Amino acid sequence: MEKIKRNILLNPGPSTTTDSVKYSQVVPDICPREREFSCLMKGLREDLVKIVHGDLGKFTSVLFCGSGTLNIDVCINSLLPDGKKVLVINNGAYSARAVEICQYYGLPYIDLSFPIDQTPNLTIVEQALQKNPDIALVHTTHNETGTGILNPIREIGTLAHQYNAVFTVDTTSTYAMRPIDMEKDNIDFCMASAQKGLMAMSGLSFIVGNRKIIEASKNYPKRSYYCNLFLQYDYFERTGEMHFTPPVQTIYATLQAIKEYWQEGEQAKWARHTRVFQAINDGLDKLGFRQVIKPEYRAGLVSSAIYPDDPAWNFEKIHDYCYERGFTIYPGKISTTNSFRLCALGAIDVEDIKAFFVIFEEALNHFGVAIPVKYKDE
Ligand SMILES: *Cc1c(COP(=O)(O)O)cnc(C)c1O
Repeated sequence: MEKIKRNILLNPGPSTTTDSVKYSQVVPDICPREREFSCLMKGLREDLVKIVHGDLGKFTSVLFCGSGTLNIDVCINSLLPDGKKVLVINNGAYSARAVEICQYYGLPYIDLSFPIDQTPNLTIVEQALQKNPDIALVHTTHNETGTGILNPIREIGTLAHQYNAVFTVDTTSTYAMRPIDMEKDNIDFCMASAQKGLMAMSGLSFIVGNRKIIEASKNYPKRSYYCNLFLQYDYFERTGEMHFTPPVQTIYATLQAIKEYWQEGEQAKWARHTRVFQAINDGLDKLGFRQVIKPEYRAGLVSSAIYPDDPAWNFEKIHDYCYERGFTIYPGKISTTNSFRLCALGAIDVEDIKAFFVIFEEALNHFGVAIPVKYKDE
C-alpha cells in the first residue's frame, strides 16, 4: 500500500483520515442492490447505534446520501405532527440552520436564541415549553461547531421529555468523538456524517433514533419526497437497502473507519482528541491568542481564536502559507467577531499540532505579525 501525502486538516470536517480508510474504497465494482451490499449496510446500521450505546431493540439508524445538513432537514421535516411547533434552542450557526429549515418548510417554530458564547438558560427553555404546549419537537446542537461551545443536552432532553416533546440533537461534531449515550443523554434522535468523528469520507449521513417515534411519524405530513425519515426507514426495514443509490465507496470507507473506531476504543479516542485539543489551546495561549469561548464552556473539539488587532494579520495569507505546507486552518462562523478555527477532529495526534504551530509561528513571523499577538484594549 503506497503512502498517500498526509495533510493535517484542522478545519471542522472532513477530517484527516488513515490510509487504510482511503484505500478501503478501492473495491471491485458492485451493484448496491446485491444482497452482499445490503448485508454490509445491516452491520453498519447496527454499529452506528452501538457507538452511541443505543439498545438495538429501541433504537435504529437510517442512512442517507448527502452531507450532514441533510440530517437536520430530515429530522425537522419528518418528525413534526400537523399543527405542532418546533422549539429550536439556538446559540450558534448550526441551530440557526435548523431555524432556516423550519422557515423553508413553513413550519411553526420558536427560535429561542441565546448569545453564541453562552450556554442556553434552562429556566427560559422551560418557560417556553410551559407557555407553548403545542411544542412537539425540541432541537439543539451538541457542539456548536461555529464556535466550539458545548450545550447541556442531557438537561435539555429532560425538559423536552417532561413536556412530551421529541428531542433531536445535532451531534454531527461530537458523534464518535465525545462519548454519547442515547439513554443517559435523553436523546430521541442524534445525527452525524461519516467524514467527521468517524474519520471516513463525505457523502454518507445518518440519523440514530427511536424506532417507535419513527413508526409513529408514518402518518405525519410528508413534506419532502427524498428526505423523509419514515420512508427511508421503512424501505430499509423492508428491503435492507437505501431507497435511492447509496454512496457505495463512502460506505466501504465507513466500514473500515468503524473497524478502526472499535480498535482504538471510545475512551482512548476521546482521550486522544482531548490531548490534541489541549495542544491546540496551549499553542494558541503561547502566542497570546484570545478565544471566543471560555474554557469551561468548550466542547473540547473546536478552538475559535479571535483575529489579533495587527495590520500585518491577514488570515488568507496565513492560511495559504500553512496550506502549502500541509496544514489547513479554517475561518470562524460568527457574524460579530472575526475568528478562525482549529479543530481536534480526525486521525491526528499531539505531534501534528506541534508541527502545525512551528509552521504557524513561522507564518506569523514571515508576515510580520507581532508575537505575542496584540489586541486593541491591551
Ligand atoms: C458539519 C456540521 C454539519 C453538517 O454540515 P455539512 O456542511 O452539511 O456537512 C451539521 N451540524 C454540525 C454541528 C456540524 O458540525
